Amino acid sequence: MPTGPFKPGDKVPETGIYTASHYQHRLPHEVFAVQGEEFPVCRRCGSRASFSLFQSVAHVDSDQDFSKSTQARKNAAAKAGLPGSD
Ligand SMILES: [Zn+2]
Repeated sequence: MPTGPFKPGDKVPETGIYTASHYQHRLPHEVFAVQGEEFPVCRRCGSRASFSLFQSVAHVDSDQDFSKSTQARKNAAAKAGLPGSD
């Protein structure tokens, strides 16, 4: 997975925290971006801003231990292993 730098208008490749870098007017800082959205232009330095992946973060629904589909399978397995314990 590429980690950047990405430009305003690029699709966010991975949900997580990105370091936003600006042209001259501001020090780098962290922002949160969601996969599939577009990196925005800066209102001050426009498309000269750039973004680099700092820390990818999994949505809780996509985590292997929290996702609903996984939970459903585990519940089904538990019921199958304990007949009559309804
Ligand atoms: Zn800027």
